[in-house]
Amino acid sequence: MTTPRTLTHFIHGNPTAGSSGRFGDVYDPASGQVQARVPLASKTEVETAIGSAQEAFPAWAATTPLLRARVMFRFKELLEAHADEMTRLITAEHGKVLSDARGELTRGIEVVEFACGIPHLLKGDHSMNVGRDVDSYNEYAALGVVAGITPFNFPCMVPMWMFPVALACGNTFVLKPSERDPSPSLLIARLLKEAGLPDGVFNVVHGDKEAVDTILDDPRVQAVSFVGSTPIAEYIYARGSAAGKRVQALGGAKNHMVVMPDADLEQTANALLGAGFGSAGERCMAISVAVCVGDATADALIARLKPMVQALRVGPGCQGDPDMGPLINGAHRDKVKSYVDLGVSEGATLVVDGRGLNVAGAEAGFFLGGCLFDHVTPAMRIYQEEIFGPVLSVMRAPDFDTALEWVNTHEYGNGTAIFTRDGDAARQFAHKVQAGMVGINVPIPVPMAFHSFGGWKRSLFGPLHMHGPDGVRFYTRMKTITARWPTGIRAGAEFSMPTMK
Ligand code: NAD
Repeated sequence: MTTPRTLTHFIHGNPTAGSSGRFGDVYDPASGQVQARVPLASKTEVETAIGSAQEAFPAWAATTPLLRARVMFRFKELLEAHADEMTRLITAEHGKVLSDARGELTRGIEVVEFACGIPHLLKGDHSMNVGRDVDSYNEYAALGVVAGITPFNFPCMVPMWMFPVALACGNTFVLKPSERDPSPSLLIARLLKEAGLPDGVFNVVHGDKEAVDTILDDPRVQAVSFVGSTPIAEYIYARGSAAGKRVQALGGAKNHMVVMPDADLEQTANALLGAGFGSAGERCMAISVAVCVGDATADALIARLKPMVQALRVGPGCQGDPDMGPLINGAHRDKVKSYVDLGVSEGATLVVDGRGLNVAGAEAGFFLGGCLFDHVTPAMRIYQEEIFGPVLSVMRAPDFDTALEWVNTHEYGNGTAIFTRDGDAARQFAHKVQAGMVGINVPIPVPMAFHSFGGWKRSLFGPLHMHGPDGVRFYTRMKTITARWPTGIRAGAEFSMPTMK
């Protein structure tokens, strides 16, 4: 067994050794071995990173948007040149298969491409003659130091939902990535520096609650973007808002796919397989519930899905071409497994049981085979709670209205989809469903970078979604200027509210 590497923070343009004396283990989920130790930052270390970002802010905010866009262009090119390195790093620490890791990187690069358009995105409106010889226009100013706190399941893409837009708008950034797969953020920091980003504009501090609480309480941090589980998202929103910050906190999910009796079942089954089991179900946009309208629809779908789930190829993400890799760590694998036990005891029918999976040559890896439940009902905890693993539940609704009601009464409202050939049902669904992102015959309706990403209900706390137009609004403050030219007008003092006469 090799000795685990010790990772660093990245503060003021340099890799910086941790000084708190506290470390976390970073596993190789495919082998079950600890491969690295990540330093867990103390309050003082996080304050140093915030101080560095604060110091770098005035000069960075004063650069022109075009210059900032050029840094983003170079960063995009470097990401593409280092795509293999990044992809392998994601797979090594997260466990997802290489092609999925490559897809994650691509979706992140698309946000960088969006941020390259920042000169256009920061253009304000201008109204001439809002009054006699009076013009009015808007400017969008950077906020200052902003922070990102991110989850384990997209160690590259989720940070890239945030910082490319934040930096392009003229802010400086402190990233607190997941301590479970921290290395992609360090490669990002290195490449940003190589792209010409000045020291201090982008910093990475690893850590746990101590680091997060320091970010939330420090008055120099103007805004916090968070992605993770709902209890933590709610906590971040409450504590960050109480400290006077702007907060967008994206939480957990339970994404339903409604399957209508007229759906193309081959297309539906393929879509469910990918959306339910891709990345071992560790996606906030994974479909974890298929709501079939009518027993005949459910019977036909289960008949197709059962052999497909049984045939899923599970193995180390970097070897061969498996469909699914391991889960992030042993504790999470055991938690997901215990949900499968729970589903059985709650009375759901376990059609495919992946609990006994054995991956030859990787017996100590955190693997779990695909699991498929039928006859899941709204009262069951396996339906109500987010499992975040390769477990797909099938529910049977008597009609469309009941299916819609189930989706709408669930506490989460991240993404959802309907599979049908009926335009009327699709239209009704799109307009009436309570979720932030809706797919019509599209299982994972993740908006592109030039749209914004976010859920409803307890999947998002805060008014603005991430990246796209909402990202620009989140990371800027609007100023409206009203100007009178020429200045020589002598109208005397006016004591009533100015109006257009
Ligand atoms: P998590 O909530 O455990 O951790 C997210 C971040 O919060 C990490 O950086 C972690 O260090 C920090 N954190 C954890 N506990 C904390 C505490 N007590 N106080 C302060 N900070 C704390 O989430 P995770 O397990 O890393 O990620 C999986 C979750 O993220 C799932 O619930 C998934 O649905 C969600 N997610 C949501 C979206 C979305 O867009 N809505 C996207 C990706 C993941």
